[in-house]
Amino acid sequence: MGVGAAARAATTQPVANEPIEVRPLGRTGLKVTRLAAGGSFPEYGRRILEFTYRSGVRYFDNGDLYCGFKAETLFGDWIRQRGCRADIIITTKARTTDPAAFEARVDDALKKMRVDTIDLFFLHGLEDPAVPLDADGQWRTMKDRLVREKKVRFMGFSTHAEMPRRIACLTNAARSGWVDALMMACDPVLIRSDAGLNRAIDTCAKAGVGLLAMKTGRGLGAAGTLSPRAIEAFRALGMSPHTAMLAGIWSDERFAAACSEMPSFKIVEENAAAARAFRKPFTPDEWKLFDEAAKGLARTTCPGCDGSCRRAAGTQTDFCSIMRYLAYCEESGNLAAARELYAELAPEQRDWRDADLAAASQACRSRLDFERLLARAARWLG
Ligand code: SF4
Repeated sequence: MGVGAAARAATTQPVANEPIEVRPLGRTGLKVTRLAAGGSFPEYGRRILEFTYRSGVRYFDNGDLYCGFKAETLFGDWIRQRGCRADIIITTKARTTDPAAFEARVDDALKKMRVDTIDLFFLHGLEDPAVPLDADGQWRTMKDRLVREKKVRFMGFSTHAEMPRRIACLTNAARSGWVDALMMACDPVLIRSDAGLNRAIDTCAKAGVGLLAMKTGRGLGAAGTLSPRAIEAFRALGMSPHTAMLAGIWSDERFAAACSEMPSFKIVEENAAAARAFRKPFTPDEWKLFDEAAKGLARTTCPGCDGSCRRAAGTQTDFCSIMRYLAYCEESGNLAAARELYAELAPEQRDWRDADLAAASQACRSRLDFERLLARAARWLG
């Protein structure tokens, strides 16, 4: 039975408390469930966390601004109620590249979650490839202190920076000596089409940096937005677009896990069933079907690439970030965080008045309709 067929046949009841299969996270010695749970959606709280745990997920991703800045507190409340601290991996993050502010954020997160140690603490949304290189040794020194004090066990970063900065962040992480793990925005389509990204992923994996994929299924939209050819290919694969993206990441042994936003029981069930049903990487024939299906995907948000949209538009507009913040509003319901992040963009990055939007859409690998999407972004974020 294929992965998709097995997933469909799986019970709709969570397998009570039995973890999904785990994989090693780089050189950390941690083992993480191949499916990790994101925490940035308004329904976040005890009910969905409990269902996710009972469905077998043991890796929980968090951040200070998630769920209207309440996620870490809600998560800590649930951990204590369930008494599961010993059998879960906790990640949370700091939106700063200032080591002193990062350290203050660690204390803040420990207080909000009311735990003694955080397993992985990430710089959130790293854009600057110089940070992993740590020219003056500040990050290494701070990490050593935080580990010695048992406040954190491992450190790293998350990134959705535009290429080639994302690639540089990864390459430098492999040389850093202090980055234990990182989470990157990517999906199998992007990985299969970008040789530079592939080399950087290889470099990290060889250096023992633990790798997690995020935003794998962001903006894939509903079945109605798929071309007939894609519908047929997904049907032959026996998967939905979302579970096919997850299976594509699980087929790549350089990754420990795919982190997915799962705001409903239905999504948790579907993803957990796919994770349990996954037995072996895609065969060449399955990859052919996947590639065929991917050609007919019409995304509604940016999976991030080299910013050819911006160059084609002839402006400095940060389409990639604006599309991500629009998804935070429309897909995650995280309006406060989206507005805060949008306000942090430089004025020229928020300005598309003189942009050639038709040229930007033409150049976009995801064929995003900027005219329509930016009108929505202006309503939510402006
Ligand atoms: S070209 Fe499209 S996919 Fe690439 S960064 Fe721009 S919006 Fe994103």
